[in-house]
Amino acid sequence: MPIYKSYFIPHSIQDALKVLESQTPESVRLIAGGTDLLLDLQQGRHPPLDALVDVTQIQEMQVLERRQDRLFIGAAVPLKQIASSALVREGAEALSEATGLIGGPQVRNTATLGGNVAHALPAGDGTISLVAMNATAQIANKEGLREVPLLELFAGPGKSKLRVCEDILVGFFVPVARTLQASAFKRVMRPQGVALPIVNMAVWIERSAEKIADVRIAVGPAGPTPQRGFSAENVLKGYRPDPDVIRLALDALLQDVHFRTSPQRGTAKYRRHLCGVLLKDTLETAWDRTFKK
Ligand SMILES: Cc1cc2nc3c(=O)[nH]c(=O)nc-3n(C[C@H](O)[C@H](O)[C@H](O)COP(=O)(O)OP(=O)(O)OC[C@H]3O[C@@H](n4cnc5c(N)ncnc54)[C@H](O)[C@@H]3O)c2cc1C
Repeated sequence: MPIYKSYFIPHSIQDALKVLESQTPESVRLIAGGTDLLLDLQQGRHPPLDALVDVTQIQEMQVLERRQDRLFIGAAVPLKQIASSALVREGAEALSEATGLIGGPQVRNTATLGGNVAHALPAGDGTISLVAMNATAQIANKEGLREVPLLELFAGPGKSKLRVCEDILVGFFVPVARTLQASAFKRVMRPQGVALPIVNMAVWIERSAEKIADVRIAVGPAGPTPQRGFSAENVLKGYRPDPDVIRLALDALLQDVHFRTSPQRGTAKYRRHLCGVLLKDTLETAWDRTFKK
């Protein structure tokens, strides 16, 4: 049995929406790089489809540019292009680092940020970095375009709130780091791992003199959806990231997030330990970067 019957390649968002509207939620999916979806179809985790709608030829979704104080990154821009962009490296370090670590070169040549987010895994590396950057998603439907904070997109593991026959992720707005602001992304993988991490983390930080003025922490997979460490952020604000403060922030973070024992990813205890290692490392890297801007 074929894994799909028809393959559409629209050149505009309106044409893609028309194809989606002509199908049922069970019969159609958007496809970008196909590095998640085609494997799911081929390996039977996803039932066969009537139609795939390829978004990679839609010009607006291939744009990567600065728009005032934000970057706009089209949902269909390949990860390799994001990872090698000077705009992203200078304005959103965590996103640059995360996209540069996903898969290997072949995956990054075709996989997209839109696919990473729409797949809605709690530890998508691109997703975790976007959450810490306070990014918003631009979504198209037949009423027009709307902007949604990233955390509001997720319903559960592998489940986004995007409506299959109505919504297309067009791109992401990412605030550009200003003076005294910086970010970092780190993760721990299985030694032979090319897929999702044991724990990943992104930190965005704003410094005021010698203190943390503002901070955002995103961590995965630490719950059914990508998680923000709101309590840990509150502990850190107003202090220097000294070892005692980081220890208190870790206690708060571990109250907010939930690590499961998993045969692929190790025990919950081990992953809680790694969370502490990553918090110190990622926070200190982002903090040090604020002095270089
Ligand atoms: C060998 C290998 C290694 C990998 N390593 C990693 C890793 O280290 N870290 C990591 O996070 N991921 C990893 N992945 C997963 C995958 O590569 C990423 O999630 C990738 O970003 C998915 O993008 P894609 O364009 O290929 O998505 P697709 O497979 O094309 O699509 C994925 C899902 O998103 C939907 N979708 C795609 N585009 C849109 C859009 N514009 N609007 C709405 N819905 C859309 C599709 O319908 C589908 O449900 C790996 C995969 C492989 C095969």
